[in-house]
Amino acid sequence: MAKGKINVAVENIFPLIKRFLYSDHEIFLRELISNATDATLKLKHLASIGEFKGDADNVKLEVKIDKEGKKLHIIDQGIGMSKEEVKKYINDIAFSGAEEFLEKFKDEKNDAGIIGHFGLGFYSAFMVAEQVEIHTKSFVEDEPAAHWICDGSPEYTLKNSEKKDRGTEIILHIDEDSLEFLEENRINELLNKYNKFMPVPIKFGTEEVADPEHEPKTIKDEEGKETKEPQKMITVDRIINNPNPAWTKQPSDLKDEEYKSFYRELYPMQFEEPLFHIHLNVDYPFNLTGILYFPKLTTNMDVQKDKIQLYQNQVFVTDNVEGIVPDFLQMLRGVIDSPDIPLNVSRSYLQADGAVKKISSYITKKVADKLSSLFKNDREGFEKKWDDIKIVIEYGMLSEPKFFEKAQKFALYPTTKDEYLTFDELKDKIKAAQTDKDGNLVVLYASDKEAQHGFIEEANEKGYEVLLLDSPIVSHLIQKLEGDGDKVKFARVDSDSLEKLIQKEEDQVSKLSQEDQDKLKGYIEEIVPKEKYTVQLEAMDSKSSPFIITQPEFMRRMKEMQQTGGGGMMGMGGFPEMYNLVVNTNSDLMQKILKAKGKRTEYINQALDLARLSQNLLQGKEMTDFIRRSYELMNN
Ligand code: ADP
Ligand code: MG
Repeated sequence: MAKGKINVAVENIFPLIKRFLYSDHEIFLRELISNATDATLKLKHLASIGEFKGDADNVKLEVKIDKEGKKLHIIDQGIGMSKEEVKKYINDIAFSGAEEFLEKFKDEKNDAGIIGHFGLGFYSAFMVAEQVEIHTKSFVEDEPAAHWICDGSPEYTLKNSEKKDRGTEIILHIDEDSLEFLEENRINELLNKYNKFMPVPIKFGTEEVADPEHEPKTIKDEEGKETKEPQKMITVDRIINNPNPAWTKQPSDLKDEEYKSFYRELYPMQFEEPLFHIHLNVDYPFNLTGILYFPKLTTNMDVQKDKIQLYQNQVFVTDNVEGIVPDFLQMLRGVIDSPDIPLNVSRSYLQADGAVKKISSYITKKVADKLSSLFKNDREGFEKKWDDIKIVIEYGMLSEPKFFEKAQKFALYPTTKDEYLTFDELKDKIKAAQTDKDGNLVVLYASDKEAQHGFIEEANEKGYEVLLLDSPIVSHLIQKLEGDGDKVKFARVDSDSLEKLIQKEEDQVSKLSQEDQDKLKGYIEEIVPKEKYTVQLEAMDSKSSPFIITQPEFMRRMKEMQQTGGGGMMGMGGFPEMYNLVVNTNSDLMQKILKAKGKRTEYINQALDLARLSQNLLQGKEMTDFIRRSYELMNN
């Protein structure tokens, strides 16, 4: 028996380990299972090159709880270690690895986003155990088994072990303050979180299942009735993981249904099917596999849970993929798996890392390509999905210039008549009718088909197209599209009279003399509240509405952008609710208002209220007054 002292520079490494990332104590299990998996995969590799002659196919790991003994066992059938190897790998290398790790990050707990996910390795066992034992037997024949014991001080014991079969068993003597790790439910939860897709089967307990060999016969009971005899049950290992998850397979080997069932496996609580998936698969200049899903996002904006999961060689790392996946794609779901993402680094480092940048732009490109091919190959299907995916695409267009470029070809602009046009198609379609006298192409849009119904109708009657743009970030997107040059202007249908929105060469002549116009303006301003409405006379089509309430495009857009967070508008808070009251001087009603004596006030109020009504601005007492006045006017 040998007693030894671990090579220490930092005597107090164990207390440090205990303190390290308190909330992350649970990662010890992932670390030990990762080691057991590595050892098993090494054995499989040796078998594949003929260095190991035994059975490397039916190997598995096991996690076992001994509640009474307060022990947790992690057992593998991998390559094992000789005594010399334990000295080398556990005492020297693993220890110095852990030491270096802690030395580097002990002051950076607050930036622990990704730090702490990996790197502590074998010694993370001491976060939960007061003593750790290793029984291990090498795959090399005749190599005696070794038994290592360490109680958390730098001293250890290394002697021969009785272990007969190949592999390694780690025994953790669980600390009084970590007894949770002796609870079956807790271990189950951890295995499910970190090891659900590990490449080697993991046994945790046993379960009763129907014996596949036993086909229950039909028998007669005492009364002569036919029944089936009871199914014979057998006890089998309970395997907690799926060692061959979909993302590790070739896209050509997977059917649509398999992608969907993998989605359910990832998110058992999601009942909505994904809209489509993107299989990621590169090995140069970095390694990355994965499957991303576009979920339906319209009804449920809850993207907090069920996020994209990051794996490293099938080991779960985190579901915070900030910095790795571009912001706008964090609304997607699925898995990415890459050994090339440095994990024991801070987020700020991650964002500056060249490989990670490449990964992020690769993902962006793949998503753009997929959308583009869906658009090209099945335009109708793409249009049907548009409302569910537009948020992601519009957000991407705003935040990633490269994506914007590609998306220009497939981003859709639906009209109020349910036609879905690309931007180029739209421009072609409206060019003739909607170019104003200065050569600007004016794109009319509505944000709410019901509320702006009257305005949409009038525009359609004039032969104008009206888009329906109702996502929350649309004002930002419009700003960007306008900024791209090309003399394109967007205007919401209710932001001014159509004559003003799309000004043509020929000015409408006013039927009213200047004198009458001044009089009319005076009458109206006397009655209409000044702090709310600016009266604006305009010679319009005589068939257009007499009074129109509008809110200037600029004001409304600034306000919207402020609400959804936009740069450059700091300190512009608190816009007053101000409207324009556009008065159509060519409407016959104006003659009536000018000539009326006793009823002028009623007429003006009535016309104002009708304009407000069409904008949904009439409520409460004002509504009641309006209804009363309407009846009175009918009776007179
Ligand atoms: P890492 O896994 O990053 O190498 P660890 O501290 O987790 O660091 O492990 C140190 C070393 O100990 C491993 O590289 C391996 O050589 C050895 N080791 C740990 N666990 C096992 C095991 N279950 N079977 C065989 N070797 C192991
Ligand atoms: Mg390890």
